[in-house]
Amino acid sequence: MGMIDLRSDTVTKPTPAMREAMAHAEVGDDVYGEDPTVNRLEAMAADLLGKEAGLFVPTGVMGNQLAIRLHTQTGDEVIVEGTAHIIRYEGGSASSLSGVQVNCVPGERGILSPEAVQAAIRPRDIHNPPTTLLCLEQTHNVGGGSVYPLATLERVVEVGRRHGLALHLDGARLFNAVIKTGVSAKDHARLFDTVSFCLSKGLGAPVGSIIVSDRERVSRLRRLRKVFGGGMRQVGILASAGIYALEHHIQRLAEDHANAKRLAQLLSAIPGVAVDVDATVTNIVLFKIPGAKNTTDILLRRCREAGVLFNAVGDRAFRLVTHLDVTAADVEEAGKKFSAVFAAA
Ligand SMILES: *Cc1c(COP(=O)(O)O)cnc(C)c1O
Repeated sequence: MGMIDLRSDTVTKPTPAMREAMAHAEVGDDVYGEDPTVNRLEAMAADLLGKEAGLFVPTGVMGNQLAIRLHTQTGDEVIVEGTAHIIRYEGGSASSLSGVQVNCVPGERGILSPEAVQAAIRPRDIHNPPTTLLCLEQTHNVGGGSVYPLATLERVVEVGRRHGLALHLDGARLFNAVIKTGVSAKDHARLFDTVSFCLSKGLGAPVGSIIVSDRERVSRLRRLRKVFGGGMRQVGILASAGIYALEHHIQRLAEDHANAKRLAQLLSAIPGVAVDVDATVTNIVLFKIPGAKNTTDILLRRCREAGVLFNAVGDRAFRLVTHLDVTAADVEEAGKKFSAVFAAA
């Protein structure tokens, strides 16, 4: 058995059937709006989320950053949860590309309460930056794949609406939430002005994200995508992978969730390992070995030598992510390797 790669759901490789679809994609120059496969993917995504239009972008970061630029003016304030991808993993681009300041509001495993959002909105006063945008994340990455229940999402969004904020959903893993809860992508998207999601994570495409909204906003986003250097040409080759992913890889996310739950259970049986099995609800497992004698780096190296790759998220704190290229058998195998390495942690 080769290396079991639990670093991220971005490590998936296109399946033979996906490559086949890519090889036969019809293409044209997408900057001229002439790539039929891109047009089909954008229409399909808009339809799936119940919005008027969609835009294919190279990365999830670009999707979020286009939304921030669209919804704000320089000097505005954007509310995000304190460990959001937008603040932690996007290179400071909200400030450098859009000149906004980000107000990081603490959440519980990444989930914001309506009260916390309410308290973070600045009163209209010349001293204060205008709060103009609220960005939420579903599922929440640093929160360990946590999911906003629909009722909470509705209450948080309602606070934003009442104060006239624009609303963006960073739905990089939106379909993990959809499969977990049965709340449709449309029922999520109707709450927001813009929604982005990744094709290149659990859905298994090699590249790409989508941002959806109404027609007028998407035409502005299309211009901004060009401004940010994201206008692409015969990119139907990549869009065809996205179409294939939407047609074949959504339902199977349930397998990733079952595999993550099983990993959490296997870890919880190892003395010294702290993991919240109940909180492991989608495809991300967070765990700690607080009393380990060995450093984080040594633990990672021993696991790598045993054939399991994953990332640290803090001191003796780790993250596992399940995906298309991890089987139930891999999970059992990884569990055995964890027992061997962590027993001597
Ligand atoms: C992965 C991810 C993104 C996008 O990241 P890219 O590396 O640009 O694909 C955005 N938001 C969240 C929550 C993510 O996990």
